[in-house]
Amino acid sequence: MLTGHCQCGQLRWEADALPTHETACHCSVCRRCSGAPLVAWFTVPRASFRFTQGTTSRFRSSEHGTRSFCPTCGTQLTFESSRLPEEIDVSTCSLDDPERVPPRDHTFAATRLSWVQLADGLPAYAGARADG
Ligand SMILES: [Zn+2]
Ligand SMILES: [Zn+2]
Repeated sequence: MLTGHCQCGQLRWEADALPTHETACHCSVCRRCSGAPLVAWFTVPRASFRFTQGTTSRFRSSEHGTRSFCPTCGTQLTFESSRLPEEIDVSTCSLDDPERVPPRDHTFAATRLSWVQLADGLPAYAGARADG
């Protein structure tokens, strides 16, 4: 069971699934939505994920994307795409223990900030991962 929470603790979530698509995303939308140079995410089946405490705020961040965050402290929690209705992406650093789900690659590396230097040896994809 994966469990996590926002910074203020009002929102708690759990997912009864193995994470997939663990990545560090360098896209400009993740960056802007978090105020951080990159955001780590992983994917679980939408059916396996639920909030166990609190109610998120949600907004459309792109034509197909909807993001949720804590209305009190602003922690970004999930990303959902209308093109992938069976999946939900969860922000890795909202995990109770982010060490459990390290990124396995970098996505949208073409828009990586010049002052973010990667030295972890992981694959870096210019855009989304080729296998989606
Ligand atoms: Zn919060
Ligand atoms: Zn992104």
